[in-house]
Amino acid sequence: MTAATASTPPAPRCALCDGVGGLAVWESDWMRLVRADEALHPATYRLVWQRHVAEFTDLPRLQRLACMDALVLVEQELRAALQPHKLNLASLGNLVPHLHWHVIPRWEWDAHWPQAVWAAPQRGPDDARLQAVRERLPQLDRRLQAALALRFDPGATAQITRE
Ligand SMILES: [Zn+2]
Repeated sequence: MTAATASTPPAPRCALCDGVGGLAVWESDWMRLVRADEALHPATYRLVWQRHVAEFTDLPRLQRLACMDALVLVEQELRAALQPHKLNLASLGNLVPHLHWHVIPRWEWDAHWPQAVWAAPQRGPDDARLQAVRERLPQLDRRLQAALALRFDPGATAQITRE
């Protein structure tokens, strides 16, 4: 080891640069959608910017608009498929300062309602309702993939037609 490398501090690790961050649903050059495997909130999705930026305003305007457009699509598909009582959008990044948006459908019966999902639970899990949500997720993943591909991927129409 040379003196130069010995004095170089290790690069900080970023969970969203090093890993996908969940079950991959769709990705483009700019962003990816993953489904988080959250036990109490299984229909939580995360829209992750591919490049490591910390703040939404680090993106150029057109990229911000594309990100918002994708978030709207995801929200629309979740509302249509799951009919939640509320839809939470959040961008925090205090622990992982790599731009990502949480898209979290909420129900009055969920463990944290009406608080944020990061707050203390308000009640125990409703296993039957959680299981009913889980059973709808594979089809929802496919709908999300198709909607996002149609909006953002070149030639996506042909791919969807083949399915
Ligand atoms: Zn990162």
